[in-house]
Amino acid sequence: MLIVQKFGGSSVANVERVFNVAKRIIETYKQGNDVVVVLSAQGDTTDELIAKAHEIDLHPSRREMDMLISTGEQISVALMAMAIQKLGYPAVSLNAFQVGMYTNTTHSNARLKKIHTERIEAELDRKNIVLVTGFQGINKFDDITTLGRSGSDTTAVALAAALKADKCEIYTDVDGVYTADPRVVKDARKLKEISYDEMLELASLGAKVLHNRSVEIAKKYNVELVVRSSLNNAEGTVVKEVCNMEKMLVSGVAGDKNVARISVIGVEDTPGKAFELFSLLAKHKISVDIILQSIGRDGTKDISFTVDRDDLHDALKLIKENQERLTAKDVVYSDKIAKVSIVGAGMATNPGVAAMMFEAMYNAGINIHMISTSEVKISVLIDEKYTEDAMNAIHEQFRLAIER
Ligand code: ADP
Ligand code: ASP
Ligand code: MG
Repeated sequence: MLIVQKFGGSSVANVERVFNVAKRIIETYKQGNDVVVVLSAQGDTTDELIAKAHEIDLHPSRREMDMLISTGEQISVALMAMAIQKLGYPAVSLNAFQVGMYTNTTHSNARLKKIHTERIEAELDRKNIVLVTGFQGINKFDDITTLGRSGSDTTAVALAAALKADKCEIYTDVDGVYTADPRVVKDARKLKEISYDEMLELASLGAKVLHNRSVEIAKKYNVELVVRSSLNNAEGTVVKEVCNMEKMLVSGVAGDKNVARISVIGVEDTPGKAFELFSLLAKHKISVDIILQSIGRDGTKDISFTVDRDDLHDALKLIKENQERLTAKDVVYSDKIAKVSIVGAGMATNPGVAAMMFEAMYNAGINIHMISTSEVKISVLIDEKYTEDAMNAIHEQFRLAIER
């Protein structure tokens, strides 16, 4: 069998853990499998590298940022190769350039376009355990790109798809996918399985156990994923196409603090204003999430929306530069907000789910600033300081701790 395994940063944080993971990899190899391993940067390395950059410039060039933060993964694969070799087994480390892992040119949030498999296959033919840097890619100019925070998951799933691997195992520091972040909601329950669609929503809404794009790729190429712990042998969670016929009303709760809200105030109440505003942001590759427009009054209206916090600075700058053209009287923002969401494939056919969620917020005394719904999710925007309380209240309201 060809198996792709991915180990996250905490799983390789120190020498002891590196050897622990090395032994697990060797176990799989000794069973006669071809093994390709994707690693993240050790522990908090990526955060530390970002902090180093910020000592120099709070808004450094994205190209140089990628050059810097991609180094963490290279350290991990080299150290892991050494550990495996030290234990007497053959291993080779490769970075994105050596593999030929091509992305588009969007620095710091690049998308994989094509992965060459020849080098990896040649190394597997030589009976090597192959260690590949997660998170990084190269663009058509041979510059290094990165796939966005948590991007190593995406590297692993994309590699599994490209190599037509039999299995893709994501090893992390929790036993699997839970009904909510187990660090926030103490009685969160581990799910045996979850559908691609629900996992994709949870991941996109802040459950950082998997990078959302990794789930997108898994669904597209039908890569069955297992999320499990690198520290024990517990069974883990399978992410796959369809689970139960009877869809779960709510399968999980997610919180996301990487949110900022911008309000463009007093815009002329004429056609085309929303178009102008959002096409301006789109042109600069700034994604917008929840949008709320007030009804026109006295010939003007307000448009509020949310962006990733990392995009706040750029978005504000753009809007201020174009304030006159947008006919905005004022631009205000807040970065002390968070988004809390519920996800469930059964929601679409069950009225009253939204009301139940809002009741939980009311009972907890938490004010809702904005709401957004779709067939499979409901999100509310609240003050950041209430994130954990809100997640617990909602988890309790839908009795997610109890198995059904
Ligand atoms: P890694 O370094 O292995 O990639 P991450 O820190 O990126 O690990 O992701 C694992 C973390 O995701 C867990 O420690 C947990 O706190 C968090 N998490 C958030 N939501 C969930 C969830 N629904 N189920 C499991 N873990 C979750
Ligand atoms: N090291 C990168 C990060 O911290 C990628 C990853 O961990 O998946 O975001
Ligand atoms: Mg991760």
